[in-house]
Amino acid sequence: MLPLGHLGIGSRLLGPYRTRFDWRLLYLGCLLPDLIDKPLYYALSLATGRHGAALGLFSGSRTIGHTLLFFFLLAALSFGYRGFAAVAAGVATHLFLDNLGDLFAPQAPLERLTVVALVFPLLGVRFPVAPFADFADLLMRDLTSIYSIAGELIGGAILLAAWFKQRRQSS
Ligand SMILES: [Zn+2]
Repeated sequence: MLPLGHLGIGSRLLGPYRTRFDWRLLYLGCLLPDLIDKPLYYALSLATGRHGAALGLFSGSRTIGHTLLFFFLLAALSFGYRGFAAVAAGVATHLFLDNLGDLFAPQAPLERLTVVALVFPLLGVRFPVAPFADFADLLMRDLTSIYSIAGELIGGAILLAAWFKQRRQSS
């Protein structure tokens, strides 16, 4: 899923609990796994000229930021620093939405599924292998995926409605 889906749908998955959090930190959490893993993968890919399994452990754009270990680390930090609770909540929605998306690719082999990263290292010391060659290829796949398109449209509509509502209340 792309940013609007993660921000709009992800934040609403928390229901009324989302108002307990600083919305900026919550939104940061909704995007954080991709903000960490995508630049990491593309930087490694660019630096080495390789992609996918040829990159070794960091074989895709869903790695350390897409693990339950990362989520549990943030959740543990929230006992000391309150702001981490908002980030952890956002990360939880991101992980849920990414793994839900795999249900729309039932024929994908296990090595490509996000759950490999989610439960890392229970399914082996490995991460999902990117099925795309570069960022443009990834973007093309996202823009032709029903799950991603629906996510962006619904997420965008939710954010727009929230923005209008806030504008009306402040005027
Ligand atoms: Zn992601």
